[in-house]
Amino acid sequence: MTYLDNAATTPILQSAYEKMSPWINGSLYGNPSSIHSCGRCARNAIEQARQQVADMLNAESKEEIIFTSGGTEADNLAIFGMYSHLRDIDRRKIVTTPIEHHAILRQMDGAEDYGIYYVMAPVDHNGVVDLAALEDMLRYPRVDVPSYFGMVSVMLANNETGVIQPLREIAELCHSYDMLVHTDAVQAVGHMKVDVQELGVDMLSLSGHKFGAADGIGALYVRKGVQPLLMPQIVGGSQERGNRAGTENVAGIVSLGEAARWDVATRPWRYSHLYDERLAFMLGIEQEMGGDIGKHGFRVNCEDADRLPNILSLTIDGVESESLLFMMDQDDVYISAGSACSSGSPEPSHVLKAMGMSDTEAKQTVRISVGQDNYHQELIAAGMLLAKNVKRIRKMNGEKIAI
Ligand code: PLP
Repeated sequence: MTYLDNAATTPILQSAYEKMSPWINGSLYGNPSSIHSCGRCARNAIEQARQQVADMLNAESKEEIIFTSGGTEADNLAIFGMYSHLRDIDRRKIVTTPIEHHAILRQMDGAEDYGIYYVMAPVDHNGVVDLAALEDMLRYPRVDVPSYFGMVSVMLANNETGVIQPLREIAELCHSYDMLVHTDAVQAVGHMKVDVQELGVDMLSLSGHKFGAADGIGALYVRKGVQPLLMPQIVGGSQERGNRAGTENVAGIVSLGEAARWDVATRPWRYSHLYDERLAFMLGIEQEMGGDIGKHGFRVNCEDADRLPNILSLTIDGVESESLLFMMDQDDVYISAGSACSSGSPEPSHVLKAMGMSDTEAKQTVRISVGQDNYHQELIAAGMLLAKNVKRIRKMNGEKIAI
């Protein structure tokens, strides 16, 4: 089989599995809040992982890392967690973008009932925030939306296209308006260097299962000075310094620490390896189609934008992505139509539509996301198979597209 849906989830790293397994198979156990040796052993394992995640992000201290159940919870904690602060200072307007993951966008539902207002920053045809338009928005705020700007949340890299946002510039601009800056870096971490100090963000969400850790573990980075403003969304015990109650997922946390260590250790070659694999997939398509794929109704989305090395978004004329996915699946090659969370939904992707695609184009778009376990020949073969299936579908549809 060829697994090309790593943006949905990655297989767990062998080393992450080995590190976490004693905490699952009963060899090691203990509540990290207990003060006896078993508890202290669990506490030490958690604190070591916290340091590893802090090192990966170049955080100032490990106390800036709050473990969560994943990216969705981290996103919810970052934004819902700031509602009461934003109300207290009467800066109740939050800027976000139409290309965010639903873990951000769904927080807008009913926000006005809490006295919070969302405003969308405009994006261009690649889904990149238009900095000049954002600056105008901040300088000349709409008068029909009450209160002042208090916070911005823009993802670092998009899960459907891999496009990277100019986050440092966004953070600088928004800080000059005294706003808090959050980024959803769930897709970016593990696929590009993510340095919270270079980016200048106040909060950053990440998720373990996107880069080799177990499912159900993630983290929110919250800059030290900002932590007192955060309101916990899960209350109970005083775990995670009162920011997130509940007995810690020690096994998951240990796996996240190992994935973070591994990311730092393998960065120099791994990111370019991912890039080469994506290229090999394209070569496979070209080989099967006989040259320039643009002439055969294929379009690489956002090719002119800064992109993650592992994600390829392709729009293919005359080919419904669901049919193509199904055919690839029959041959044990696994790709995706847009994001995993929205596949199966009859609605075309909100990300692609925000970039200006029509419903038809959005429904003809597939996402290929490579991982470090893929290899060159496998990718060429998968690209060729995709092109063969495109030809078959077009033939079945009787479409007159040059192939
Ligand atoms: N944010 C982005 C950009 C994502 O791609 C995802 C998952 O696909 C999430 C948030 C949610 O993360 P999790 O699955 O860990 O809850």
